[in-house]
Amino acid sequence: ALTATLAGVGDQHRERSLRDDLTGCFNRRAFKRLFLREAERSAGLHLPMSIVFFDIDQFKSLNDRHGHATGDAVLASVARRATEILSAQELLFRWGGEEFLVLLSHTGRDEARLFAERLRARIEEKVRVESDPNAGPVTISLGVASGAPPDFDEISLIRNADAALYQAKASGRNRVITDTMMRGGPASRP
Ligand code: GH3
Ligand code: MG
Ligand code: MG
Repeated sequence: ALTATLAGVGDQHRERSLRDDLTGCFNRRAFKRLFLREAERSAGLHLPMSIVFFDIDQFKSLNDRHGHATGDAVLASVARRATEILSAQELLFRWGGEEFLVLLSHTGRDEARLFAERLRARIEEKVRVESDPNAGPVTISLGVASGAPPDFDEISLIRNADAALYQAKASGRNRVITDTMMRGGPASRP
């Protein structure tokens, strides 16, 4: 029984070390491990996998106007609203500051784009600055990238999703861009 308890504590500790304290999302450390697991799973099923990268729009100005604590509450709220629409195979990571990543196993580009659009609309609809009813909606910009089995290249998937996110910011924010929508398409070829 003692061994079982200790193992349980170990599991809890390990689980916590893979999560971000503020949002409860998986952290970057967890990504490597979970990406490998999900890439193997998708390759085994001969199915593609996708990444959705997203970043809160004009978050620096939100912090400046409403304070860092309100910014933190908005971050937690964005993560909670995103989590509400995730299925069991869809994993949410806090990538850095106000940047998040969703890993979609055995999911192709079209389905990933629909997911991203649903997420975009949901954040716009649900996330508010609680301390100021007059503050406008909080929005996110999203970049989608997909890869084909059996070789999933973590580096180029992330690079492509990041480039798409950059385009989403540059073309007006609060929108979804996929890797194939960019000039030249995905930059995955060497
Ligand atoms: P853009 O629409 O181009 O993304 O503009 P932005 O202002 O969101 O982007 P920028 O990268 O300039 O600013 C990000 C801000 O996020 C700056 C930083 O202070 C804030 N930030 C990062 N991590 C946290 C956090 O944990 N809590 C709070 N409250 N703010 C954070
Ligand atoms: Mg931002
Ligand atoms: Mg950012």
